[in-house]
Amino acid sequence: MNPAERVWIPVLCYHRVCPVFERGIDSPSLCVTPDQFKRQLRLLKFLGYRSITPQDLVAYRQSRKNPPRKSALLTFDDGYEDNYLYAFPLLKQFSMTATLFLVTDSIGKKNDWDSGSLSLLNESQIEEMHLSGIQFGSHTAGHLDLSQADSEVTKRELLVSKEKVQDLTSRLDIPFCYPYSRLNSQSKQLVKDAGYSCAFAGDRNFEEGEDIFDLMRIQVFPSTSLLGFWKKLQPWYPAWYRFQKGIKKSG
Ligand SMILES: [Zn+2]
Repeated sequence: MNPAERVWIPVLCYHRVCPVFERGIDSPSLCVTPDQFKRQLRLLKFLGYRSITPQDLVAYRQSRKNPPRKSALLTFDDGYEDNYLYAFPLLKQFSMTATLFLVTDSIGKKNDWDSGSLSLLNESQIEEMHLSGIQFGSHTAGHLDLSQADSEVTKRELLVSKEKVQDLTSRLDIPFCYPYSRLNSQSKQLVKDAGYSCAFAGDRNFEEGEDIFDLMRIQVFPSTSLLGFWKKLQPWYPAWYRFQKGIKKSG
């Protein structure tokens, strides 16, 4: 299927959901408020969107069939505890699913790859969310930048973290998400070889190909207004984004 014929499925990328006073010093630009998140979920429902899983996305891509219109995928990186405290109750309220990418060596600990001050999900929270239909994937074992890492270290990290998520979810098909959205052709191949079902990156100027190991995502920021969020759902958003940034489409 020509990418142009594909139904546009926005894959939204979040990190944290928490009130402003709990943001702390870590990347406040990655933290939306519960109220903001609630308004976004309410808009998705109002517009008739349903949330799909990475497995659904891969199935649509591999069958070369388009999903029903108005499908969206919500993803969260790093597995912060605030996802359980603030995002999870709202996802349940609006009957939406989301996919959380865990840094598996840090489950139940702090975000040591950054400031080390933020709590991450523990195993019982992950289990409760999993039983309510939330999906989980790997974000490596130690939040490794795969574009810089040695291939043996990468292989080990990919294997250890995949097995951990498999144990936690009793599933074999585990999606992956590149830390820092950084990847190169070697790291992409290693993720494929490690047996992951697909892999998510950043926006890459919204030039999406056919590769399910380089799936693009749209960041949602604290500064994203409800109108800005609506724009991110539209099939013309990639073209709009490139136009705004003055990026010429390659190829
Ligand atoms: Zn991350």
